[in-house]
Amino acid sequence: MTWISPYPLLHHVLRLVFSEALWSLSVIAGDRPQVALTFDDGVHPQFTPPLLEVLAAEGVTANFFLLGQQVAAYPELTAQLWQQGHWLGLHGYRHRSFPRFTATELRLELIKTQTLLAQVTGQTPQRFMALRPPNGIMTPRVMTWLKAWGFRVVMWSVVSEDWRSPGIDTVVRRSLEQVHPGAIIVLHDGMIGGQDVAAITAKLIPSLRDRGYDFTSLGLALPPPRALGGQDSAQG
Ligand SMILES: [Zn+2]
Repeated sequence: MTWISPYPLLHHVLRLVFSEALWSLSVIAGDRPQVALTFDDGVHPQFTPPLLEVLAAEGVTANFFLLGQQVAAYPELTAQLWQQGHWLGLHGYRHRSFPRFTATELRLELIKTQTLLAQVTGQTPQRFMALRPPNGIMTPRVMTWLKAWGFRVVMWSVVSEDWRSPGIDTVVRRSLEQVHPGAIIVLHDGMIGGQDVAAITAKLIPSLRDRGYDFTSLGLALPPPRALGGQDSAQG
């Protein structure tokens, strides 16, 4: 049976509406094609450690969009991500869609998460200025706030719907069908769908390498954060 998903169409529309977000990496001619592996909803005490083992064994740097409440609950595991050289971004404090917050509430949630990440990693909060909205849900109004506060929104270009737990082979196959140079691949290491993430990643990394892909950090694709972390007022 053919797998039909609403996501390709939805993705196309969202990409047009939120063109300021990062949806894929720029491709440099002549270089080996790069992809970014991204993991949302962590850290998780059961699902993140085996994933870290896979990444370390493969020598791959990945990217994690973390929930503040998970960072607060598992600071040592979060510190381990950082020490292993992975790139860290925000996914909100709770897993709650950003449009459900007022501007003040959302700002506080993000600051709380930044502060936790700073404590755990020994960096400044302004080091963590990139985020991915929970459930991928955004409105133009929320985008305006985030921009005014200096945040950079990162979306994705490869989505296998791993959160529905369709099976390891299905997630790998869908990811390989969608992959392209500069792809940002979204997977989940949290409560929903995280149980298979280590096994999926262990299969996906060699399959992508067989197709000529290298793995990169989003830190290389994003401009350095603004010095004051978005204290300035909204512009445009
Ligand atoms: Zn999420």
